[in-house]
Amino acid sequence: MAHSDDILARAADGDRISDDEALHLYTEAPFHALAEAANHARQRIIGDNIVTYIIDRNINYTNVCTTACKFCAFYRAPKHSEGWTHDNAEVLRRCGEAVDLGATQVMLQGGHHPDFGVEYYEELFSTVKEHYPELVIHSIGPSEIDHMSRVSDIAVDEVIRRIKAAGLDSVAGAGAEMLPERPRTAIAPLKESGRRWLEIMEVAHNHGLRSTATMMMGTGETAAERIEHLSLIRDVQDRTGGFRSFIPWTYQPENNHLKGRTQATALEYLRLLAVARLYFHNIVHLQSSWLTVGKAAGQLSLHLGVDDLGSIMLEENVISSAGARNQSKLGELVNLIRTGDRIPAQRNTTYERLAVHWTPEDDPSDERVRSHYSTIVADLQQV
Ligand code: SF4
Repeated sequence: MAHSDDILARAADGDRISDDEALHLYTEAPFHALAEAANHARQRIIGDNIVTYIIDRNINYTNVCTTACKFCAFYRAPKHSEGWTHDNAEVLRRCGEAVDLGATQVMLQGGHHPDFGVEYYEELFSTVKEHYPELVIHSIGPSEIDHMSRVSDIAVDEVIRRIKAAGLDSVAGAGAEMLPERPRTAIAPLKESGRRWLEIMEVAHNHGLRSTATMMMGTGETAAERIEHLSLIRDVQDRTGGFRSFIPWTYQPENNHLKGRTQATALEYLRLLAVARLYFHNIVHLQSSWLTVGKAAGQLSLHLGVDDLGSIMLEENVISSAGARNQSKLGELVNLIRTGDRIPAQRNTTYERLAVHWTPEDDPSDERVRSHYSTIVADLQQV
């Protein structure tokens, strides 16, 4: 095994490192050297100091689920008195609120309802598209696709063709949890296998539906299993190029059947981000989850290879009074990026930058900064 410094230098320059080398970096590399190499890789890949975020809304259509993952506090078993399903009119109402608050994307997510086959999702997506064609539907994951295939008794390939035709624009990386067999079976014994999750994602990519890839860490998996998770994703990416970003997050140990298990520490999370940046020479974007690891770790992650802080996630229950609240949440996120010594920018689903929050402190010789300010001055003169 090469010394950490050699591996870090090669990875920072874009060389492909092996699984053993990634594990070595994760467990052995000095923290500052790891951070510096990951930051170097981010700079090489992204090319500037901009950190993006997206305004979107997570809309849950049902909490009824037959899969009973042990880590999940959200679901209720069929016939449970607290089970609910929102009809399409309610989903549309929430989409409308999201659009009014500046959202560009919706994440429609829910449980594996025993009655919801492909027909239900076709109706859901086409209804949203008909009323809000401007909203990007970045929703569901391989688990839901697998579920539809079983309920409707049709092949995954056909399910994907139909839901894409109905309006699904992008597949969320949901349901990846931990992909290696041992930790996955321990936390989600009824969910499809990690191999199946990857196979379905590959079919979606081959249909032109791109996606994100996620990872939930902190439910008792080993360091080697975390690296194996990265490896399984990189293999698919080699073949399809369909993953836009990698998004690890930490398991939240409240109100579920895994209560008491150790959550990943902030340091473990930050090290994983840095190793992911160095390992994924073939995935462009890396997102940290400031909503689950907290603002301080989220801000620090911007110096460990992260170029995206994800969503301000318009909230479910407070949405009616959310105008001010979400604005302040947006301000908080922008400030987090700015005080983290990065330049904030709103993006869309495909990471196109919609608005960069330049300030006069940014490089004044940069034409983009100058034109941003001249636009603002022109706007003010028209008032
Ligand atoms: S499939 Fe999703 S909603 Fe159902 S129990 Fe698992 S995580 Fe929860």
